This record gives sequence, structure tokens and C-alpha cells, in this order.
Amino acid sequence: MAEGRCQLSMKISVYNPPPKGALRHLLGQYLRPIPAICRACGDPGIGGLDICASCYRHLPRNRRGCVRCAEPLPAAGALCARCQQHLPAFDQVLAPWHYQPPMDWLAQELKFRHRLASGRLLGELLGRWLQREGAVADVIIPMPLHGSRLRERGFNQATELATPIAARLGIPLDRAALQRVRATAAQTSLPLRERKRNLRRAFRCECRLDGLRIALVDDVVTTGSTADAAAATLKRAGATEVHLWAVCRAARGGGSHT
Ligand SMILES: [Zn+2]
Ligand SMILES: [Zn+2]
Repeated sequence: MAEGRCQLSMKISVYNPPPKGALRHLLGQYLRPIPAICRACGDPGIGGLDICASCYRHLPRNRRGCVRCAEPLPAAGALCARCQQHLPAFDQVLAPWHYQPPMDWLAQELKFRHRLASGRLLGELLGRWLQREGAVADVIIPMPLHGSRLRERGFNQATELATPIAARLGIPLDRAALQRVRATAAQTSLPLRERKRNLRRAFRCECRLDGLRIALVDDVVTTGSTADAAAATLKRAGATEVHLWAVCRAARGGGSHT
């Protein structure tokens, strides 16, 4: 069975859209189009998204983050103190918004109340932003949840975000390559040394990823420690680059969002 578990190509599920216009034609016969409504204020949405022009313009952009981990900084183009001390295993975090309204409660609606419409909006916003930025990867991997957390929640919010991103960018999505094999306590409540010990061996990758550029997708990056541990595992499996694509970057010390 060893070879069956490690065949990455078999695990990759490529998004297959329905024939162009078929679904719309079918729905159009029975339903009126559902208008996009801003989830923040109720005004009409723009570009088919549930967000209006004004709320979109005022989204809390994270323009001046650490070049490595996207930690908000007073000036652009710098490396934060923590990355200077310990360079993380991931190559770069792309997290275009702060964990502030409305992004924080949209992320919470998805994670804790399973509001899929919020997940679609966040996934589409991040996907469109990544497309404009010309972000590239060979494989997209949603940040995995531990089995017990997955059973408790019933779904992985990172997969909900990664699915529209993979479809928009035309990049294969692999839900199985990386597993979380240890349940980890809320990271921000622990001192750094314990956090590292806690996260060591938290992830497992049984595939070979030689020469691949991986994009890990998550909703919020808080300390960067989880992404660091996941990226180290992926690099041990042969990945040449690991990027983290997240909707929001929370300032360190801002509480746990796992
Ligand atoms: Zn609005
Ligand atoms: Zn940093």
C-alpha cells in the first residue's frame, strides 16, 4: 500500500467546471438571477460579489507587512524582528487584509457558523487579488485541521476558501497531501518555546513534492508558527517553495483564531 498512499497525481482533484453557460441556462429557465447583496451593509454588490463598492474600497488593507510573514509594520519592505531572529520555513505570506471588520466577522461566520456565503466571498476576494498580483503555484493545499477538530466542526474552512481560489487560478487542489496528526492547543496562549514543541511533528506529508511550488491556503495568520511548521514538513517532502495565501493577517498578540 506504500506506493498507493504516495501518488500525488492520484490525489490531486482538478476543478472541472460544467459546460459553459449550461448551468446558467438551466437555472435561468426556472429562477430569476439572485442579486448580489453586500454582506456588510445590504447595498447592491459589485462584480457578482456580496460586497458593495463602498465597503470594498474601505476593506482594511494590509499594505505594510513584513516581506516574509506579512506582520503589519510601520514601514513597507522590512523584515520583522521575529523573522530576523528566526527565518520561517515558508517563503512568503500573502495576506492582503487585516483581521479587522468586516473581514474578522466574515471569517468567524464561516468558521463558527458555517456561513458558506461568507466563505465564497472571502475566497473570491482573495482569489481575485492573487490573480491581479500574478501569484503562481503548482499545487494548492488547504491548511489541514486535526481529525478531532474536523469532526467537531464538520468542515475545514481553509478548504472552503481554497476551492474558489484553485478554480479561479486554474491550479490543482490537493486536500490529502498534508495531514495534521497532532491536535495543538491555541497557539497564542503559549510561550514561544512551548509553542514550537507543540507544533513539532504536528504535520505529516507522505507524498513526494519534489520541485513543486506549494501554496498553503488559510483564513487568518496570527503568529505564523503553524505555517512555519507546515512549511517545514512540506519542504522535507521536497517542495522547493512554500507560500501561504491567507485572507487576513492578525497582529501578534491579538488572540487565537484557530
Ligand atoms: Zn456595503
Ligand atoms: Zn516577519
